[in-house]
Amino acid sequence: MKTWMKFTFVLCLLGAQVAHGQTDKKQASNKAKPKVRILATGGTIAGAQMSKDEYGYKSGTFSVDNLIAAVPTMKDIADLTGEQVANIGSQDMNDEVWLKLSKRINEVLKSKDVDAVVITHGTDTMEETAYFLNLVVKSDKPVVLVGSMRPATAVSADGPANLYNAVAVASDPRAKGRGVLVVMNDEIHNARNVEKVNTINVEAFASPERGPEGLVNTGKIAWSEPSTKKHTSKSEFNIEKTDKLPRVDIFYAYANMAPDIIEAAVKAGAKGVVIAGVGDGNMTEATLKTLERLHKEGLLVVRSSRVPIGPVLRNSEVDDDKMGFVASGEFNPAKSRVLAMLALTKTNDPKKVQEMFNTY
Ligand code: GLU
Repeated sequence: MKTWMKFTFVLCLLGAQVAHGQTDKKQASNKAKPKVRILATGGTIAGAQMSKDEYGYKSGTFSVDNLIAAVPTMKDIADLTGEQVANIGSQDMNDEVWLKLSKRINEVLKSKDVDAVVITHGTDTMEETAYFLNLVVKSDKPVVLVGSMRPATAVSADGPANLYNAVAVASDPRAKGRGVLVVMNDEIHNARNVEKVNTINVEAFASPERGPEGLVNTGKIAWSEPSTKKHTSKSEFNIEKTDKLPRVDIFYAYANMAPDIIEAAVKAGAKGVVIAGVGDGNMTEATLKTLERLHKEGLLVVRSSRVPIGPVLRNSEVDDDKMGFVASGEFNPAKSRVLAMLALTKTNDPKKVQEMFNTY
């Protein structure tokens, strides 16, 4: 193509985009905005520093109304309503709040007055709550978790930008049917895949096995392929009539690991255990023998790994078929525990539970 032709072509393209952009803007302002309900649970995003020059702070200081008021431009992209479900640091997240939160989400998403839900949450256990919701929410409407690494009072707090992006993602019709999402630091992650990978940096979340499900910057979204795993409305788990979840404990494996602490957990009421194994889900011979016996007495045993990346394969160095164990695949110990708890609301048969680990 000659240079003048190229130049004219680019001018035409730009002209068309400007005209298109203007029509888009007009249409957007005439169109009803999506109705987004923000459910707040606390965390650093609602946290206040004790003093400007120290890093100590208290999670869950500000209310949901404070959070909405802090980002006035969110009102341009969505009609917002807020509700305080809890106000805790997410290290204190527990089964009771999970059940309360998921029942409330299912209730509000049934309403025609709510198109999507955004949940503000501490980052410590965000991946667990997100995955729990991914398995028990009964709706295809967008559900997005968001938090921040710096408290609301910090210089360069990341909460307002994260919250704006989360509302933009929840308001996007293309977020429908993708399962529960996590928005942090300009990235969109699927609840199944996301993990906290840094203790303090704003780049604290990643999906190490699969990568993010999209990018979002100042509300502009670029989506990647959705997850092919089962979730939300297609999930078999239902907590609507549940008021207590089975106890599942995690044990970290190491050189010379002794099994007696696992026996103590079973005596205290554990119905399942997840081993954060060494390497590909390995552990000492003594631990394996104890777990084989405890499984015969009814304990669900899941082998995961303390190694951050890579799957735990079935029947590799451990004979899972013979021992009656479940291999966690891509799930880290925390996610394995969430799935094991929900699995135990239905069965403790390792073959059926393994199928669930492969499916969700
Ligand atoms: N421990 C706090 C929490 O998870 C701080 C982490 C955060 O929110 O960034 O709520």
